[in-house]
Amino acid sequence: MPVTIGIDLGGTKIEAVRLDPEGRVEFLKRIPTRREEGYEAICDRLVNLIRECSEGHEQPPVGVGTPGALSHRTGLIKNSNTVCLIGRPLKEDLERRLGQSIRLENDANCFGLAEAVLGAGRGHSLVFGVILGTGVGGGIILNGSILRGRTWGAGEWGHAILIPDGHSCYCGRRGCVETYLSGPALERDWTRRTGQQCSLETIVREQVSHPDFRGWKTDFLRHFGLGLGNVINILDPDVVVLGGGVSNIDWLYTEGVRAVHTNCFTDVPETPLLPNQLGDSAGVLGAALLARELL
Ligand SMILES: [Zn+2]
Repeated sequence: MPVTIGIDLGGTKIEAVRLDPEGRVEFLKRIPTRREEGYEAICDRLVNLIRECSEGHEQPPVGVGTPGALSHRTGLIKNSNTVCLIGRPLKEDLERRLGQSIRLENDANCFGLAEAVLGAGRGHSLVFGVILGTGVGGGIILNGSILRGRTWGAGEWGHAILIPDGHSCYCGRRGCVETYLSGPALERDWTRRTGQQCSLETIVREQVSHPDFRGWKTDFLRHFGLGLGNVINILDPDVVVLGGGVSNIDWLYTEGVRAVHTNCFTDVPETPLLPNQLGDSAGVLGAALLARELL
């Protein structure tokens, strides 16, 4: 297997890696996204970065991971938090400028792929990778490959309805998982209860004895248990791997797991929920693994 290149296109930084045939990182570089400069400037920076990463190799396969996704219908980027990418044919533009086919996937699928092949899900055939961060996403990895589904929407549990007529979501509907379990959603819930603006980290570390903490945590765990319990009832994965800032909360792996298992229909509710092993590198490593699909 030749070397592959992975690009993680985030809202603030672009990260690139080159993996050797054994999957080891042999080149790594980070540059700022500077999304305020617009779409064309981002394309320029991506192309230059990919060329730099490819030096000494004959057009290695390239995978790109980014929040948002490619529309199955139009081939254009949708739902990206880097707004200038929305409605743009990023994949096509990069392919034209590089003179080669590339793969482009949403960041949750890249996260899931990396954790399934190189991280906490290693050795398992069916892995559900979950991102609980600024947004909520998921990726289903079956035998080391992304399961995309008919319209490339498989695993998108962040916009499954958790609470009918609940909080309104940017996607236009109400009560999506993301409006209860993303970092900003949990912080908003804290503010609603206490009037205080606190980061999630501060709430979990420093507000444990606050009179509203117990109610906040109880609701959080109930939503977490319900959301993931529903996924497990449909998918019955070998393992669920959690990523994103919210996944750093340690009681998700004790009380959170119990809340999930309470909502599992199976008579052996023991699906492991594991913290990710690759941290922030999962996205870019997943993108490089994705490039192997081109071989
Ligand atoms: Zn939604």
